[in-house]
Parts: sequence; C-alpha cells; structure tokens
Amino acid sequence: MENWDVIIVGAGSAGLSAGVYTVRSGLKTLILDEKLPGGTIADASIVVNYPGFHEISGGELSEKMTSHARKVGATIHDLEVVTEMDLSTEKKLIKTPRTTYEAKAVIYSTGSHYREIGVKGEKEFKGKGVSYCGVCDGPFFKGKKVLVVGGGNTACITTLYLSGLASQVFVIHRRRAFRAEESLVSDITSKSNVTIMWNTEIQEIKGDKQVRAVDLLDNLTGKTSELQVDAVFVQIGEAPNSQLAKAAGVETDEHGYIKVDGHQQTNMPGVFAAGDVTDQPVKQVGTAVGQGITAALEAYSFIRRPYYRK
Ligand code: NAP
Repeated sequence: MENWDVIIVGAGSAGLSAGVYTVRSGLKTLILDEKLPGGTIADASIVVNYPGFHEISGGELSEKMTSHARKVGATIHDLEVVTEMDLSTEKKLIKTPRTTYEAKAVIYSTGSHYREIGVKGEKEFKGKGVSYCGVCDGPFFKGKKVLVVGGGNTACITTLYLSGLASQVFVIHRRRAFRAEESLVSDITSKSNVTIMWNTEIQEIKGDKQVRAVDLLDNLTGKTSELQVDAVFVQIGEAPNSQLAKAAGVETDEHGYIKVDGHQQTNMPGVFAAGDVTDQPVKQVGTAVGQGITAALEAYSFIRRPYYRK
C-alpha cells in the first residue's frame, strides 16, 4: 500500500493543473493516467484561444503542462489504469494492476472520449480510414479526398487542418448551421478545397481493406448518394469518462457528467472533479485548467484546513 496526500486520476489539462497547485501547496501528489499524460488537448492540431499563447499546437501545450507538473514535483505514473476505487471512507483507496494506493483526497479528471456515429462500417474501418483525430491521422491522407462529420468547433478545426493536407475535404452536417465559433466557420468557408454539405448524414462507410466511399442521406429530401472518399473523420463531440467514479458512488447527471459544486466538490467528501468529465457547461482548456486549480486548492483546504470548510 502506498500513501499519498492527493491522488489525481487523469493527466489532462485539468489534472496536470491540479497537480501543479497541490504540489506547490505542500501535498504529496500522485497523478495516474491510463495513457500518456496530456489528455485530449494533445490531439488538437492548433489551439488559438488559450490565453498567453496566440497559436500553439495541442501537443506542445500538453507537453508544457506535463513538464511543468513534473518540474514542481508531481509524480506522474502513465500507462497505469485505475481499475477500482473505494471513496466511501476517510482513506480513499485507488486500485491499479500495480498496487493499491491510499489518499486523503482524490481529484477525478479523466476527461471524455470521442463519440461514435454508430453507422455500419464505422467499427470495421476504425484505423483503416475511420479516424477520430485529425492531427493524428490526417498526414496519412495527403493529397486524398476526406470527409469530416460534425458541425462544432472540433469539426471545423479538423477541417481547417485537413484542408492543408488533403486534395478535397467534404464536411457533412446534419443541420443547416454550424455551432462552431464564427471565425472558424468563415475560415473554412474561405478554403477552395472545402465543400460543405448541409442536412446530410452518413448511412454507411464502405471499402475493402481501407475506406473507399460513404453512403449519404439528404435528410430534407430523403435522397441518397454515394461519395468516394479515402477517410472519414468523425468529429461529433465527446462523452465523459465517468464510469469508474459512478461505480464508486460519485453522482452524475443523466448524461454521465459528474455533478460538482462551485468548489469542484462531488457528493462524496474529499472527492473533487475537474475538467470535461464534470457537468460544468463550458468545455475549454482554459476552464479545465481553472477547475483543476480550484479542485487542488479545495483539496488542500479539505486536508489541511478542514475548519475553514465548516
Ligand atoms: P460539439 O460542440 O458538441 O459539436 C458536436 C457536433 O456534432 C454538433 O454539430 C452536432 O450536431 C454533431 N453531432 C452530434 N452527434 C451527431 C451524430 N450522431 N451524427 C452527426 N452529427 C452529430 O462538440 P465539439 O465540436 O467536439 O466541441 C465540444 C466542446 O469543446 C465545445 O464546447 C467546443 O466549443 C469546445 N472546443 C473548443 C475548441 C477550441 O479550440 N476553442 C476546440 C474544440 C472544441 P448539432 O449541431 O446538430 O447538435
């Protein structure tokens, strides 16, 4: 059994920011992540709205956050999966295949995962032309025809990135208006190799060893058509990674987002949550960072100054 003051589950923007603050507050801090540190922001081709950085790649920003947390003294165990948590008593137990850790407070910042469309061929061609990350897989489709599905910021940023690589980028959106920021929308509409198809849905992704085409449905006219493409980038948002916390008794809303108050406190004493896994309405790097900081300082109060919280 290893003892820590705080265990942070999830090393994305929220978890790494929390780690900087818990360590600087004098708390012995372990950050666990089932993957490499950095979280989903590491997959973003560019980040243009994180204050202080006019334009930075998601990879570089997440590396800076990771090295900052390490430099101040946070211990980060990557590629270590949390399998179970017992958060019901004063001593919080976090189990992994390696050992069982004990902590006085837990910050849960596991983020979210890419949502799938759920159409025929999507699972079959995953990694063979179906992708959920433009910056990871875009370079494989240099000079090819690609399709982006979605109408939010992520879909528009990915479209912008792919327009610099692919010969042609088709964007399909199920409605007639994007929900992305206006400046992103005007950026993609000005690209000569981007074609936007409104009121359009995918019915099937087809191919042989690789994606070759998609069947599309115009949901206004009911007309179907086939479009030849080499890749499909699904960019339709994310869903929270809250299963483990839920199983340990942490309350979530009907969509699975962890309910937190203004102190990032969950329904369980000493258990805080921050970032995209929470029910906070805005999901940005900046807000994840802010929530991580709040969770860290509240965890500090919980452990060292409980009289302030009465
Ligand atoms: P989002 O804003 O929730 O947009 C998801 C898009 O996918 C919507 O246009 C939605 O259509 C569409 N969609 C959902 N389910 C679908 C389905 N089954 N089939 C087809 N289309 C479907 O998600 P996001 O773009 O990933 O952004 C998530 C959050 O992160 C947002 O708050 C966003 O502002 C933020 N973000 C910020 C940045 C940045 O750099 N600032 C970058 C990325 C994301 P409808 O419009 O019809 O609902």
